[in-house]
Amino acid sequence: MRRSSRVRSRALRLFPCAAALVATAGLGQLGAPAPRAAALAAPTAVCDGTDAAARRPAGGESGQDPNSVTPARARAMDEDLRAHLAGHVNAHAFDGTTTTIRVYVHVIHSGDTGRLSDGTIAAQIDHLNATYGGQGDGNTATGFGFELAGTDYTDNAGWYKGMTPGSRAERDMKKQLRKGDAGTLNLYTAKLGQSLLGWATFPDAYRSDPVGDGVVLLDASLPGGSATNYDEGSTATHETGHWLGLFHTFQGGCQSPGDYVDDTPSERSPAYGCPEGRHTCSTTVLDPIHNFMDYSYDSCMSQFTPGQVERMANSWAAYRK
Ligand SMILES: [Zn+2]
Repeated sequence: MRRSSRVRSRALRLFPCAAALVATAGLGQLGAPAPRAAALAAPTAVCDGTDAAARRPAGGESGQDPNSVTPARARAMDEDLRAHLAGHVNAHAFDGTTTTIRVYVHVIHSGDTGRLSDGTIAAQIDHLNATYGGQGDGNTATGFGFELAGTDYTDNAGWYKGMTPGSRAERDMKKQLRKGDAGTLNLYTAKLGQSLLGWATFPDAYRSDPVGDGVVLLDASLPGGSATNYDEGSTATHETGHWLGLFHTFQGGCQSPGDYVDDTPSERSPAYGCPEGRHTCSTTVLDPIHNFMDYSYDSCMSQFTPGQVERMANSWAAYRK
C-alpha cells in the first residue's frame, strides 16, 4: 500500500515533535529553507512511532492496510518463503537474465473520467521497465521486465469512485476482470478512497485467493496524472514490489529483522516528501528515503537494493514461477 501525505501533513498538532526531531537529528538544514520546510511538513509521520496503526482507519474490513503487516505476520511470511525455497535451487540476485512478466491493465472509469489513454498505459509499462531495469540513482537491476498483454475498460461509476482494499467493489471487479495465472500481473486503476495511491497482494496469498491477486492503483498516479508529487508512475513500481514479496522499508520500525532485507536501513516510520538526512533509528546509516518501498515522493524514489532483488527473485521462484 502507498498513501499520499496530503491528509497527514495537515495534522499540525504534531508540529512540535517535528521540530524536536530535526534538532535531535542535527540535520543542519537552516541554510536550505525549501528542504527544511518539506522536512517540517512531513514529520507528522516521522515522530509517530505507531504510525502504521495510526494511519489505518478505524474499523471495518475496508480499513485494513494489506501491506503493513504485524511483526508476527511478517515472520510467518518469511518462514513460509524459506519453506517454499527449501529443496529448490535458490534464486539469487540478478544473474543477467530477464524474466518478462505479462501485464493486464484493467481501467475502471466513470464515463470519460478515469478513462486512461493507451499512451498513459504505455508510459506506465515503460516506467516499470526503467525502474525494475536498474535505471535511476543508486538503483539495482532486478531481472524483471514487463510486457503489456492487454487493456480493458469498464465503465462503472460505483466501482470507480473511492475504491478501498477489502471492499465489495474490489472483490467484484477482480472476480469479473482478473486474467492469467500466478505469474501474471493484473493492474487495476480507479479513483481510490482513504487518500490511497494503491495497494497490492503479497505472493503467498495467491494460493488461497487467486482471484484477489494483483495491484490496484490510483488512476491519477500513472505517468502524467494529476496526483501532485505522485505522478511519475512509481506507485506501480512500489505496489509491484509488494506483489513480488517486498515489505515496506519501515516494516517492523527500528526492530530487527524489519523488512527481512539486510541491506535496507531500518526506519521508524514512513518517510513523506523527500526528507534528506532523515535518521530515525539508532543506526550508523540514514533512512532509506530513496527506496521504492518507502512513501516518499516519486521524484525522491529511485532505488531497489541487491537484497530486495534477491527477495523478489526468491518470491518469484517460490510462488509465481
Ligand atoms: Zn506499500
